Amino acid sequence: MNKIVMIDESLCIGCGQCVEICPKKILFLDLKTSKCKVSDETKCGKAQCCEKICPVKAVKIVK
Ligand code: SF4
Ligand code: SF4
Repeated sequence: MNKIVMIDESLCIGCGQCVEICPKKILFLDLKTSKCKVSDETKCGKAQCCEKICPVKAVKIVK
């Protein structure tokens, strides 16, 4: 269970915008489900670019 990068997969539409913008390259799309996932959330810089760019508000960064 993630504690920093929270992704609500029921909302995610797999647009990939958060994946592209993440400076730490820790977000990726699961090719089978087209849902966003996070690899190593401990590398997250918590600048919330992903949260701001997500069109459906599926990402939340817990500070
Ligand atoms: S807050 Fe920044 S570093 Fe953390 S997952 Fe989002 S885009 Fe990546
Ligand atoms: S920006 Fe939002 S909808 Fe798009 S892939 Fe990321 S979490 Fe999913």
